Amino acid sequence: MKKTADMVIKNAGELLTCRDESPDLIGVTRGGWVAVTDGKISMIGSRAEIEPLISNSTQVLDASGRVVSPGFVDSHTHVVFGGTRVGEYFAKIEKLSGDEIKRRGIRTGILTTLEPTREHSLEELYEETAVRVRDMIVSGTTTVESKSGYGLDRDTELKQLEVNRLLENRLPISVASTFLGAHGWPHGMEKEKYMDFLISEMIPRVGSAHLAEFCDAWCDEGHYTARECRIILEAGLDAGMKPKLHEGGYSYIGGAEAAADVGAVSADHLNYDPRPSLRRLAEAGTVGTPLPGIDFAVGHILPFDPAPMTEEGLELSIATNCCPGCWCTSMPFIIILACRRHGMSSERAIRAATIGGAKALSRQDRVGSIEPGKNADILIWNLERHEDIAYHYKTNPIETVVRDGRVTVRDSKIVQDI
Ligand SMILES: [Zn+2]
Repeated sequence: MKKTADMVIKNAGELLTCRDESPDLIGVTRGGWVAVTDGKISMIGSRAEIEPLISNSTQVLDASGRVVSPGFVDSHTHVVFGGTRVGEYFAKIEKLSGDEIKRRGIRTGILTTLEPTREHSLEELYEETAVRVRDMIVSGTTTVESKSGYGLDRDTELKQLEVNRLLENRLPISVASTFLGAHGWPHGMEKEKYMDFLISEMIPRVGSAHLAEFCDAWCDEGHYTARECRIILEAGLDAGMKPKLHEGGYSYIGGAEAAADVGAVSADHLNYDPRPSLRRLAEAGTVGTPLPGIDFAVGHILPFDPAPMTEEGLELSIATNCCPGCWCTSMPFIIILACRRHGMSSERAIRAATIGGAKALSRQDRVGSIEPGKNADILIWNLERHEDIAYHYKTNPIETVVRDGRVTVRDSKIVQDI
């Protein structure tokens, strides 16, 4: 190991290590210093321990008594899409009747953005998506999961996954790619026929091309049954993709048991999951990912309740669920919602946005906490206490973003494209 550090972050007022075993959930350490070497966190300690590692070539960032935390891991997004659902958003806010929606020609549902997503070229789809991903980067997200599922045909699904690859290659963010062919099925096609196409053609193709790390499906009334999801996710496992599952968002039809049986890394939404199902997920080591943004954006009639989840021992992750129905790119805003609308403590929400998110992506060995050996993905906040992340509704709460040991954002501006 080198004797000096490439970067030192000094004078943290509160250093949130977010170590897994922290008794206070986020490992608040006062006056901490952090050393970074070769893109990794090499040491955490006091001034007396870290200062000797500073040489002429060390970049020193002064946190000046403010909060220092891990970068956010946004573990559930549908950020790659074309078009907008703004018409539907206001139709719901204004409580327009079905007839009125029809009379005004307002389109609703995921099929609304399917056409523009299909019609855009790869570069057009990348450019529209990159606008949102740049917003995520300046909001402190250093790892983002991104799902396909707005094409529901071979070429568009592959195009969405190619956009994931471009995002990771061109922007200072790590991208975890998920194949969500089972987000729906094409208009005019039988669900069973589309499932055959997914299992016999798409999933093996995506797996062999290494275009996705995860395979996902939507288990809910009117979508895929628990049995169908199990079949899809097992096909994903055969093709080398780890399972994730949307379940319990608008009804409960056994999604948690299906997720637990296939060893899903996460089960997402969970509004309707009964206690025994939450316990089953916890026992299986599946991370629960409730989604404050979508509950807010759709005015959900049953917003998720984190209390039974934590009481049953479920590790939680929270995510933006950035999608045409929830145009949210900000993890700080998600923390605000999780605390104010769902009764999460600031510590539980911050944990769920960092190490919880990392676990929901099986990346807890690399990201999600400030510990020696992990990637140096670190935020310096314009705040002095971690509770202020949920209490101050600031437009720009983050001063500096470091990713892989390099400064990528200063004062809401990306300063390093790859
Ligand atoms: Zn989703």
